[in-house]
Amino acid sequence: MSKNARILVTGAGGFIGHHLVKRLRKEGNWVRGVDLKAPEYEATDANEFEILDLRHFDDALLAVRGGIDQVYNLAADMGGIGFITAKHAEIARNNILINVHMLEASRLQSVKCFLFSSSACVYAQSKQNDADVTPLREEDAYPADPEPGYGWEKLYAEQLCSYYRQDYSFETRVVRFHNVYGPLGTYEGGREKAPAAICRKVALARNHGSIEIWGDGVQTRSFMYVDDCLEGLIRLMASDYVHPLNLGTDRLISINGLVDLVCGIAGKQLAKNHDLSKPQGVRGRNSDNRLLREVLGWEPGISLEKGLSITYAWIENELAIAGRIQNMVSAQA
Ligand code: NAD
Repeated sequence: MSKNARILVTGAGGFIGHHLVKRLRKEGNWVRGVDLKAPEYEATDANEFEILDLRHFDDALLAVRGGIDQVYNLAADMGGIGFITAKHAEIARNNILINVHMLEASRLQSVKCFLFSSSACVYAQSKQNDADVTPLREEDAYPADPEPGYGWEKLYAEQLCSYYRQDYSFETRVVRFHNVYGPLGTYEGGREKAPAAICRKVALARNHGSIEIWGDGVQTRSFMYVDDCLEGLIRLMASDYVHPLNLGTDRLISINGLVDLVCGIAGKQLAKNHDLSKPQGVRGRNSDNRLLREVLGWEPGISLEKGLSITYAWIENELAIAGRIQNMVSAQA
């Protein structure tokens, strides 16, 4: 795949971006990382790491200076369902600015290929009203009825990529992630996603205690371990496929099921307190991977059991280091 390429990863201080920098460096590429902040949990492997605000066009131009071959545009103002439901204007504004500027700066600097990280939040909400949802095919994003704010912005940026391809022959790739999880990701503070939040709650709970679950827990999703996400990203960049492509697993599981899995990993029995006042997003969402298999000749294969075990162990250890799990052995007794 890409070796000895000059690559820019935006959002390199964030969860997927940080992992991607590591992987691209391991494969022998030169990598520049850009973000508003350095990675939180370990040092970056990037050859250069710059603090830039990509909402500003001058910063976007700086980010792609110096003969960059490929851009993985992962920078975004985003978070879990609580965050993206509460901040429509701020999220839409910030992300539109980042994507418009990064596309234009990359075109002006003659970048060879630009990958935009979209989301399953672009899919029509009306097709996700059932927990036992039919997996979403790429064409299910239209007629447009995406998630307010975050989803509309992602859908518009997908379109912008296609306009740049049509009008300027500028090479773009568009990936639609379905719930990526793994270690070295935010696990508290409001921006964390369900798997990380559940791991944190379970790790902090005493055995036979209880944890709070948002919604009735019957809502369903599919979840992809971060290493699979990196593999898919690199394969898509290397492909010649220019249309939006799902990247996720197609194993549908309820939030209650996810909690049970994490409890099993932790060796704890916990009661679930369902808070119906909290946002839960669409009722059900799954990825149809037919096109993914066809285009990439591959699909994510790391099991939820394995990925969650690694993620849980990392979050539990972080909490223990912070002195928040006083005695890991007695907490599980
Ligand atoms: P993340 O929040 O960990 O990383 C995003 C990074 O972008 C953050 O480090 C943030 O500081 C940075 N950023 C925000 N505004 C910026 C700005 N103005 N200038 C420069 N950097 C800025 O998120 P992630 O999970 O790593 O997601 C990466 C990409 O994948 C995002 O585009 C996100 O929308 C998309 N995505 C992720 C998931 C998922 O499950 N993690 C699902 C769907 C889509």
